[in-house]
Amino acid sequence: MPDVKFCDIGANLVSASPSTFDGFYFGSQVQSHPEDSEDVLERAKRVGVREILVTAGTLEEAKAAASKCRMWNEKSFRKSSNSINNDREGADDDEDGSEGVFPKMYSTVGVHPTRCDEFEEKYDGSPERYLQALKTVVRENADVVKAIGECGLDYDRLHFCEKETQKKYFQFQFELAKEFDLPLFLHSRNSREDFYEILKRNVKHLRKGAVVHSFTGTREEFEELLALDDKIYIGVNGCSLKTEENVNVVQSIPLDRMLLETDAPWCAVKKTHFGNTFLEGGENSNRIQTLFGTPVKPKKWQKGSMIKDRSEPCQIATVCEIVAGCKETSYEDVAEACYRNSRDLFFSPSSS
Ligand SMILES: [Zn+2]
Repeated sequence: MPDVKFCDIGANLVSASPSTFDGFYFGSQVQSHPEDSEDVLERAKRVGVREILVTAGTLEEAKAAASKCRMWNEKSFRKSSNSINNDREGADDDEDGSEGVFPKMYSTVGVHPTRCDEFEEKYDGSPERYLQALKTVVRENADVVKAIGECGLDYDRLHFCEKETQKKYFQFQFELAKEFDLPLFLHSRNSREDFYEILKRNVKHLRKGAVVHSFTGTREEFEELLALDDKIYIGVNGCSLKTEENVNVVQSIPLDRMLLETDAPWCAVKKTHFGNTFLEGGENSNRIQTLFGTPVKPKKWQKGSMIKDRSEPCQIATVCEIVAGCKETSYEDVAEACYRNSRDLFFSPSSS
């Protein structure tokens, strides 16, 4: 077993249309390789990923993510109990995903800012009914749903959904966090002031806290967010480590307020990224390179291959290595702090 534990707090492993995990790339109708999501989960487990939070962005995705997570969890335990290796420590230790061949899988329920038109398009244009349907998904899947999201604001992609609609339904979704006492998984792109303003107005509803994921803002921006409430965290992935400026910001995020994620299949660390200068093994941590070899192009896929530039949960090790490098601290210390934070935010007992 690896000596560190991770929780990938954001992975887009389930989507409405075929994705790279089904072998489809760049919107092509031609499948480059068979579905390999279970290989992806096994690789994650091998680098120490104990839990994965699968992010959903619409009602349909939320339903699909919850049922797929449950299916993976069942399969994970079946596979491990079939294995001849009986000396796994602590069968009652399954809560944190130490048992099973996959990490323990969880999901979110919420509507992404770029998809907020759905509130007015589905259910005969009744946002209230759409919200009720989201609530039903949370209620019926309480065993796997661990957060509300992803929701927030994205002003880089207003062509998908205009500002006023985004703002309106970001506000709307706080009701879910409030009703179910769940943390929020938040997305903010180029929307600093409005995002801050809406979050501040609703901070009283955040009894369980929130993570602002895939952070690419400035130091002032994360500082004002962290000052809002001590249960607010900043999520860091490959996109947070692209430029020297990004890396300098990440360097100043306190470890006790940071969470690690991959945002798979997006936000891979690439050779051209500044963060890459902290790695010795090319575009991946040496740990990954040693375990799984060099990633290949989709067409060259063979059973067990990683795909070049497709981010996947095992690469949380790469994100961790870069964060450790820029903070001049150890890989283990970064992993440990962020893992503890993920437990506190998503897995603390509901009575607390
Ligand atoms: Zn996002």
